[in-house]
Amino acid sequence: MSSNSSRELPTDRLATSDQQGRRIYLYSAEVKGRFRTARTWTHSILILVFLLLPWMHVHGHQAILMNIMQRRFAIFGLTFWAHDAPMLVFLIGGAALTLGLVTAVWGRAWCGWACPQTVFIDSLFRVIERVVEGDHVARRKLDTGGWTFDKFYKKCLKWLLYSTFTLVVAHSFIAYFVGTDELSRMIRHSPAENPLSFSVMLAITGFILFDFGWFREQFCTMLCPYGRFQCLLMDEHSTLVTYDVRRGEPRKGLNSEGTPGGDCVNCYRCVQVCPTGIDIRRGTQLECIGCTACIDACDDVMTRLHKPRGLIRHASAVALQGGKSKIIRGRTIVYSLLLAGIIMGLITSIATRRPVEAAFIRATDTPYQEIKTSTGSSVIINHFKTDLSNQSFDGAVIDLLPTAEYANRGVEFVFAGRPLHIQAGQKAGAEFFIKFPKSLLVNGHTQIALNIMNGSAIVLTEELSLVGPYL
Ligand code: SF4
Ligand code: SF4
Repeated sequence: MSSNSSRELPTDRLATSDQQGRRIYLYSAEVKGRFRTARTWTHSILILVFLLLPWMHVHGHQAILMNIMQRRFAIFGLTFWAHDAPMLVFLIGGAALTLGLVTAVWGRAWCGWACPQTVFIDSLFRVIERVVEGDHVARRKLDTGGWTFDKFYKKCLKWLLYSTFTLVVAHSFIAYFVGTDELSRMIRHSPAENPLSFSVMLAITGFILFDFGWFREQFCTMLCPYGRFQCLLMDEHSTLVTYDVRRGEPRKGLNSEGTPGGDCVNCYRCVQVCPTGIDIRRGTQLECIGCTACIDACDDVMTRLHKPRGLIRHASAVALQGGKSKIIRGRTIVYSLLLAGIIMGLITSIATRRPVEAAFIRATDTPYQEIKTSTGSSVIINHFKTDLSNQSFDGAVIDLLPTAEYANRGVEFVFAGRPLHIQAGQKAGAEFFIKFPKSLLVNGHTQIALNIMNGSAIVLTEELSLVGPYL
């Protein structure tokens, strides 16, 4: 395996590739510090949330469910079907705009603190690697040395542990898409009974092992689409991990004889700890994932030298030049307004969403019939068709009834096959007749209200126009 010395960073290519474009494997050094501690806590909480969330239920439904095969989705008690796609568009749009806003203000905070790639590699896979193979020096020695029993044993143990945790992660990931009940059922049965899910699980496991176990920073620097366009979302006021050139330069070894040097002692510690292998002293670079490891490393060096911390720190380009960074500026205002619009749209969609949707159309036969009752009074009959859609995750038993006011005034519904049983997420059509006393008509028409019942509960109240002879 090819590896790089931290003091030989090229200027014309990635630090992780040689002149032929072959991968140079990185052995980033461990670091301790306030950001490392904060990130360990943040990553641990995120991993726990990821593993536990599918097992939590809100209002009887899995907290987060994205069952694409059955086209049913649940988000913290709200249930959606495929025809609720506009709401999912609001959610996805809101997430994208939130990411844009965070990037405009805090740079690649997402990459360093919350991206699954960083979270799992940094706080799970690298921890396993360190426990089994030792620190970066020991790992480099192990990889560049010949095959011995010790190397064979450590590699086997490392990949066995990787695989074990990856299987847990892959199963949890699948639980978001098939549901925990279905996942538990599948685990208890032979893979041959669920070939598709089993294949997907194996593919995810293979991908995670490849990516988190070996490919690592290559994904961030070469494949991640967000990494490509994040620079478009930032400007000179965005807070990034930056090196204070004015304070640090001329670094040790580059100052002229007899002139005072800057605070950088050229120890390369910031480069040794960088998981993407870059030298932050060269300025903002596409490969920087904002992980803050170089801040902790340099703070440690500065503390030992009895100098103030923060030679590498979070700062904007404006702040580094002595100016004041602005959070409220053109792009953050635009992102915030768009985000507010999306949140309003989402809230409105959710607030106006009903568990049962109904559409009524008049049947195409005669507009009405008039019949005489045995008491000699006239009764008018109107013929309607309805399309009912059950948007909840539970079966519905639907009936149509006039509201109490109109029932008391003699309005009746004649409904074949009532009540209608509609399965979760399904639609059903029905025809029905409305009988009402002719005396309700005013100039040939009248308006009534009807309740759509699910069992004994009123889920919707609608109005219908009825017609009859012009008196
Ligand atoms: S860790 Fe700090 S002092 Fe050392 S090389 Fe990096 S910037 Fe300079
Ligand atoms: S330059 Fe610093 S913040 Fe950026 S990836 Fe490297 S160590 Fe992390």
